[in-house]
Amino acid sequence: MSIIKEATFMGSFVREDKCPVDTKPEYAFIGRSNVGKSSLINMLTNKKGLAKVSQTPGKTQTINYFLIDNSWYMVDLPGLGYARISQSKRADWEKMIYYFLKNRKNLQYVFVLIDSMIPPQKRDMEFLMWLGTNHIPFVIVYTKTDRLLSKDLKKNIQNIQNEILINWNELPIEFITSAEKKRGNVEVIEFITQMNDSYYANLKNS
Ligand code: GDP
Repeated sequence: MSIIKEATFMGSFVREDKCPVDTKPEYAFIGRSNVGKSSLINMLTNKKGLAKVSQTPGKTQTINYFLIDNSWYMVDLPGLGYARISQSKRADWEKMIYYFLKNRKNLQYVFVLIDSMIPPQKRDMEFLMWLGTNHIPFVIVYTKTDRLLSKDLKKNIQNIQNEILINWNELPIEFITSAEKKRGNVEVIEFITQMNDSYYANLKNS
């Protein structure tokens, strides 16, 4: 199935051990503040107000859970690396995110959102390295791909890929998306559906 029929907000949590516990597979969405995460979540779920677009930056420090079609959880993680909050607050917050990612049992993939409009960011590259070091599976989602002419977009994505290939032997799975133009939603949902199928098949056999 390549569209989401039902998305229900399940709550906001401040710690991993407060998050829902059941056997559904989970997919986390994360990126630097302003990367377009809320817009992407709303686009994928077809619900305009599900995730709040452009909230006061740095304010959303909660892990937000959405139950999708009663079969999986979309997890909206707080934006990484926002400069306008204090260093110590940021450190606490990032610790919370890292703890979540390392310890969440049913986490299948992390969707790392990267802004396709801007040059490769050190912070994004460091985060990918951290995921790799901790053996956490991830894919990349390029956001806002409607904002550049296609040749400029191609060039910028290539620059980001080259930066990734400095540390990695191969590129991860990537999705080209635009919330504005509704681009890439079918591919993202199809990928998740496939992963869910094998998750539930394994669960049945175990
Ligand atoms: P978040 O902070 O990561 O949740 O980012 P938001 O979803 O709030 O988006 C940040 C800004 O980028 C907002 O002004 C959005 O309207 C804009 N934006 C997000 N996605 C897109 C997109 O696909 N295309 C364009 N043109 N703008 C986008």
